[in-house]
Amino acid sequence: MSIIAESLGRIKPSPTIAVTTKAAELRAAGRDVIGLGAGEPDFDTPDNIKAAGKRAIDEGKTKYTAVDGIVELKQAICDKLKRENGLTYETSQVTVCSGGKQVIFNALLATLNPGDEVIIPAPYWVSYPDMVLLGGGTPVFVEATAATNFKMQAADLEAAITPKTKWLIFNSPSNPTGAGYSRDELKKLTDVLVRHPNVWILTDDMYEHLVYDDFKFVTPAEVEPKLYDRTLTMNGVSKAYAMTGWRIGYGAGPKELIKAMAKVQSQSTSNPSSIGQYAALEALNGPQDFIAERAKVFEGRRDLVVGMLNQASGLSCPTPDGAFYVYPSCAGCIGKKTPEGKVIENDLDFVTALLETEGVAVVHGEAFGLSPHFRISYATSTEALTEACIRIQRFCGSLT
Ligand code: PLP
Repeated sequence: MSIIAESLGRIKPSPTIAVTTKAAELRAAGRDVIGLGAGEPDFDTPDNIKAAGKRAIDEGKTKYTAVDGIVELKQAICDKLKRENGLTYETSQVTVCSGGKQVIFNALLATLNPGDEVIIPAPYWVSYPDMVLLGGGTPVFVEATAATNFKMQAADLEAAITPKTKWLIFNSPSNPTGAGYSRDELKKLTDVLVRHPNVWILTDDMYEHLVYDDFKFVTPAEVEPKLYDRTLTMNGVSKAYAMTGWRIGYGAGPKELIKAMAKVQSQSTSNPSSIGQYAALEALNGPQDFIAERAKVFEGRRDLVVGMLNQASGLSCPTPDGAFYVYPSCAGCIGKKTPEGKVIENDLDFVTALLETEGVAVVHGEAFGLSPHFRISYATSTEALTEACIRIQRFCGSLT
């Protein structure tokens, strides 16, 4: 009999981490590989934030803290939510976790009963369905294709709601598509949610600050105050402040939920790293100008990648509003043959052949719940992106 729990059989390891690992293996074997799989900024953590982390060490702030975060950081989060999102929270309504990922995990573990349904628009961030499954719930997918710019339509949301629906997980701008909902688009969804008081909203605002052109970020509780009492607004410092390794994320919502999430955390990881928390405090309270400067760089890279991919035969790449991903369709390559004679039957075949022949690592759309697509992370240098896109064009051009 296996030592491994049955519950683990329901989930799979993160496919995005798997691609990064495969690319690293090929590189170690001497292959020239460009990795476009990882979802993290290539920029460094700003110096003032690093200095705050070092200061925390020197000042001996290296002990356990309150389980769900130091009160100074909770206050800085309240200030941020007020300043940037127009949302009023008290520190008792805020939880700090080891990354945004743990916020979602704690929320689902603290609330799901067997049979509870969680609506997840597809394509989705790979971890949502597996976290729901681990928590004993049932993911319910609502497809949002390129025809609607990957945005879930109100009627489709309404059709997916049942008496068992506990949560909607909402993510804008989205990983993997970069699609962002405008205020009007989001209002159409919140109008539906107002009519269904059994549904809670977990909004993943991780990419709030990575938005381009004139896109204006909005979050559900801001667009519809009637939803405030059943919304968990989740965010973190990983992407906006280039702090993925520091592991600090946060959530704000009703006290009862926040308390239950702290209970889960108290019996699992306890407090997030004290040093990370002091660094995050500086991130939220310190200068913010570099965020827009970096977003401009990302915008330039987005334009480069979208332009070059749309010149590749068989690909079609919409222009995203935010995040640092594009999600092109490879429908025009399906059914074609590689020079080695391999037929591309799906997006996994496409990305596998691309990695093997041209050494470009991307993630297949099936992992995110919408095929035939693939995800490129453009959080890497312009030179690497240009070279990768040249290789993708050559690969697509070689298919017959
Ligand atoms: N939410 C989304 C949409 C993400 O893309 C990620 C990271 O890739 C996370 C949450 C997790 O962030 P963290 O690294 O803070 O756990």
